[in-house]
Amino acid sequence: TSFGFKEVCEEDKSELVGKVFTNVASNYDLMNDIMSGGLHRLWKDRLVSQLSPFPGMKHLDVAGGTGDVAFRILERIKSVQRRALQDYLDENIGETQIFVCDINPNMLNVGKKRAQERGHAEDKSLVWVEGDAEALSFEDNSMDAYTIAFGIRNVTHIEKTLAEAYRVLRRGGRFLCLELSRVDIPIFKDLYDYYSFSVIPAVGELVAGDRESYQYLVESARRFPSQERFAAMIADAGFQKVEYENLVGGVVAIHSALKV
Ligand code: SAM
Repeated sequence: TSFGFKEVCEEDKSELVGKVFTNVASNYDLMNDIMSGGLHRLWKDRLVSQLSPFPGMKHLDVAGGTGDVAFRILERIKSVQRRALQDYLDENIGETQIFVCDINPNMLNVGKKRAQERGHAEDKSLVWVEGDAEALSFEDNSMDAYTIAFGIRNVTHIEKTLAEAYRVLRRGGRFLCLELSRVDIPIFKDLYDYYSFSVIPAVGELVAGDRESYQYLVESARRFPSQERFAAMIADAGFQKVEYENLVGGVVAIHSALKV
């Protein structure tokens, strides 16, 4: 391909990822629905229900892109936090803060626009931050929880990203990662391979006029470590209670861990 996905070396990866997400930003939500048959919504719901967000929390969603995970967290907190209680909680527990950090300003801009559409424009709880998962601008031990959804396979150094997640979390803070993973079920694996390598790039071309970016997305998923290997990397970063849950036979997995 003209981006040279297969040959890409480390130094070029961030530039390549920048190009890909600049290209896909405007079609991102539509393509997510098409490629996953709408399932990405359920997977993100599952991630947020595993997180159990609470009023007053300081949350960091890295590679937060168009705000999908952050909106779910915010809406869940608001649904448990009755209006009458809101001022009391803000005063006594502190304001909820959900930081959406993404390296790509185009993705963040789509997110900010969606925040307006969803009625969160005036909400001080959402904070949009342009930044790199590998070098976060947040202080040590400052976050109650950290999520990264469909983001970690795009970073250049997974270890640095995990070390940064560990650094910014407070003791007792939770790490949750939703990512495309490995399917090992015979036949289903073959179907999934066909779908990934043939159907997705073709749909990318048809809907978004961009085969290459979607080809990259598929290939980056295949290069990502297996569930077990990734769990070992999370433990190596210092986390405890590392667990994972496969969804749809491992098409995606949710890894979770605790900083103790
Ligand atoms: N979390 C969103 C979701 O689940 O819909 C967006 C996922 S999107 C597939 C991947 C995002 O990772 C893009 O918005 C991209 O800009 C961002 N990204 C890639 N490399 C990054 C890095 N080093 N630091 C922060 N964000 C990064």
